Amino acid sequence: MIVISRKSFADILDKYYQWDFDRLFDEVSYEDIERAIFKDYLDDGDLIALLSPKAQSYIEYLAKKSYRITRQFFGNVIFIYAPLYVSDHCVNACLYCGFSVFEKFKRRTLSYDEVSKEAKILADKGIRHVLLLTGESKLVGVDYIVNVVRILKEYFDEVSIEIYPMDEEDYRKVIENGAEGLTVYQEVYDKDIYDKLHVFGPKKNYLYRLETPDRGGRAGFREINIGALLGLAPVRREVFFALKHAQYLFDTYPGLEVGISFPRIRPIHGSSNFSFKVYEVSDIDMVQFITVSRLFLNRVAINISTRESPEFRDNIVLLGPTRMSAGSSTAVGGYSENVNSSQFEISDERTVEEFCSMLKAKSLMPTFVNWVREFNG
Ligand code: SF4
Repeated sequence: MIVISRKSFADILDKYYQWDFDRLFDEVSYEDIERAIFKDYLDDGDLIALLSPKAQSYIEYLAKKSYRITRQFFGNVIFIYAPLYVSDHCVNACLYCGFSVFEKFKRRTLSYDEVSKEAKILADKGIRHVLLLTGESKLVGVDYIVNVVRILKEYFDEVSIEIYPMDEEDYRKVIENGAEGLTVYQEVYDKDIYDKLHVFGPKKNYLYRLETPDRGGRAGFREINIGALLGLAPVRREVFFALKHAQYLFDTYPGLEVGISFPRIRPIHGSSNFSFKVYEVSDIDMVQFITVSRLFLNRVAINISTRESPEFRDNIVLLGPTRMSAGSSTAVGGYSENVNSSQFEISDERTVEEFCSMLKAKSLMPTFVNWVREFNG
């Protein structure tokens, strides 16, 4: 992978930390928004204008333009994938997660035979791109991950990982054994809030996590997905940071397929009572963030997972997303067994078939093959 040497994203982010986002959003005028909507290339000021609360008055214009750009760059295709959780052991204390070390439940790490069993069930549903997920623990070290990737490659065309951040050398091993995609969300870009929500464990290291996509890019992943877990910090500023991060990755690693996600925080173990302040994110906010992402970065892949409700997914699907999970379980062993302890609650419980029928009814084409990957070779 060619790497264009430039400032690190941490340096870039430091500049934005000095900005008074509340004031900037507040000072946006309707003229600023109208000018930004009709531009082909958006600068930072345009991004602030379109992410401002006032821009919601123009949501129809944002939706129409996002629809047009999405069809232009991605056609009518929605790429389907599914997650596969292989371990819920975790040494980290992330206050928003059902797998946090604070949560008391019987944990497990799948044996290689169990991984095969889960993979076969998922592959039999038609899934060809799998996202491998684990917590962070010695039980799921690099050798385990490498072996699991090898097993998954027997069942799927494409394997991506969403696991703990690794060193560049370890990423190379995982890539050599068949992984092509890396998903790593910063979770929250606000440093102070990040520190409070990650009570202890290796994940407390903000900078190491922030630089994970760079280690992945240098190691040679073909595709990298980043994102912010919305609800943990003031949301418009978080979306701004995540989009600047995605832009940085496009600029730094030519040829890299960059994806973005804005998952909203979900209840864990049936409860929405969190021990920290949760920032509300409405459906209309989400429509704004997704459509503005498309206007700002025309080629970015946009993911919407089954965290979101069927109604929301059905309504947003034409307006910018390019990848959606379906038929998902977020529990370890969840495809072959009835398991209670999941990382977060799924909202869209439709089968892969049901989800694909909905897409076809909207004249969209569900695909299990990543055409961007096929064309790029
Ligand atoms: S978010 Fe990830 S690292 Fe944090 S507790 Fe959950 S599984 Fe562990």
